[in-house]
Parts: sequence; C-alpha cells; structure tokens
Amino acid sequence: MAGGLCYQVAKLTNGCVVMNLQSSKTGLIDRRAELMERGQRIHENIHHRDEPLSADFAEQAIELENRELLEALDDEVKLELRQIERALIRIDEEEYESCENCGKDVGEERLKALPYTTLCIRCATAQEENTARQR
Ligand SMILES: [Zn+2]
Repeated sequence: MAGGLCYQVAKLTNGCVVMNLQSSKTGLIDRRAELMERGQRIHENIHHRDEPLSADFAEQAIELENRELLEALDDEVKLELRQIERALIRIDEEEYESCENCGKDVGEERLKALPYTTLCIRCATAQEENTARQR
C-alpha cells in the first residue's frame, strides 16, 4: 500500500515538474505583489504619524503602540519579501527543488507547505537541533 502510493507520487512529480515550478513561481510573484502593497500601506501609516500626536494621553499611548505594531508588521513583510526573492532566484537557477545544504531533493510536498524553504527535511531538522543546542 505504502509502496504503491510512493510510486504514484514519484510518477506525478516527474510528469509535472515544469508545470508545478511555473505555478510555484506565479504563486510567489502574486504573494510578492500583495506584500509590496501591504508594505506600502504600512509605510503610509507610519509616516502619517509624524503629524503631532493627539493631545489626549490615552490616545497618544495607542498611537505609539500602533506604531510599534506597524513597525513589527513592516519587518515581517520585509523578511517574507526577502524569502520570496530568494525562492524566485532559486527557481530561475533551477535550484528550487534541491537542498541548499546537501543538494538532495527538498520534495514537492515540503515545498508546497513551505514555499520559501531552502533545506530538505533532514537538513532543516539538523539545523533546528543545532540551534536548540546553542541556546
Ligand atoms: Zn539537505
């Protein structure tokens, strides 16, 4: 049963590699456009707050909190954009599906779940264990 399933997955992977990469790429580009728009809105929000803060102290506190929140969101957007850029470069260089560390296949399922990953499950787990040990 398990063997049959494996075979099916392998067959699918081989048959649709090009198409899947294309749809991964389209998905990443869409996501990038969405994030850029979001980043733009966050920036507008941050900069509009250069106006004098409200006189009311409670309101000031809320505005400051919002600003921190916006900056945190901005960082998140920037980080994700960097990951997308990297993934797009890896697709163009035909490295998207191979692990950055060991060169083996990252696996389609893993890439679907984590489109920005650059490591196969084994290397990612090893890296996590390393980070955990260093802590
Ligand atoms: Zn690896």
